[in-house]
Amino acid sequence: MLEVRNLEVVYDDVMLVLRGVSLTVPPGSIVALLGANGAGKTTLLRALSGLLDVHDGEITKGSVTLDGRPLHTLRPAQIVRRGVSQVMEGRRILAELTVEENLKVGGHTAAESHLDRVYGLFPVLKQRRRSVSGYLSGGEQQMLAVGRALMAGPRYLLMDEPSLGLAPALVAQIRDLIIEINKQGTTVLLVEQNATMALSIAAHGYVMETGKIVMDKPAAELLADEDIKEFYLGLG
Ligand code: ATP
Repeated sequence: MLEVRNLEVVYDDVMLVLRGVSLTVPPGSIVALLGANGAGKTTLLRALSGLLDVHDGEITKGSVTLDGRPLHTLRPAQIVRRGVSQVMEGRRILAELTVEENLKVGGHTAAESHLDRVYGLFPVLKQRRRSVSGYLSGGEQQMLAVGRALMAGPRYLLMDEPSLGLAPALVAQIRDLIIEINKQGTTVLLVEQNATMALSIAAHGYVMETGKIVMDKPAAELLADEDIKEFYLGLG
């Protein structure tokens, strides 16, 4: 179980961006984290992945634990070894490397079996494995970014707006892929602006507003509540 308890994060020593966030991701689940631009969702993912440092951010209170052991004291590479991987933004793949080279950079031990899994999930990446990644379409680059995170064989996958900028047909494809990845045994924390998509596949949803969790409910309840849809999710 991945657990965030009362987490406070500050940027540049002064700017309080997370104000006591608590959230639980049970093993095997898909959990959606929703909220407007600037609510602090990306910051929470950085805290989970150990990537606050590089953004001049710092945890000032609270904890992140995985199966009861602290994660927030570890370096990013150690966090990946503990089984928590974050999908990088699609545009951060290494454009000059081939698809397969990008995937191999993402993996470590037992990379061949993970490569088979990734090619199974994304046949288009297998077809294009010798292509230079910079020539992939936006959707294919997004898939490559997901594939790279899966190369570490994570138990927990953190996804930051995988549907961003994708045409509706590709959003549907990404949605199906997340379901499939989860079925194969990977737990997913899904940060999304696309609340309808995220809640349609998640068991549980959290809504963040200015650094706080303001809603915490089964996804079906969030989707069914007209007031929540209108006021918090912009779906009114
Ligand atoms: P978005 O969907 O736009 O990414 P978000 O919910 O993920 O929004 P964050 O990116 O976590 O929100 O940003 C939360 C707040 O922290 C915003 O006010 C943002 O300006 C601020 N912030 C983010 N990164 C930094 C940084 N490196 N230094 C200072 N402030 C930052």
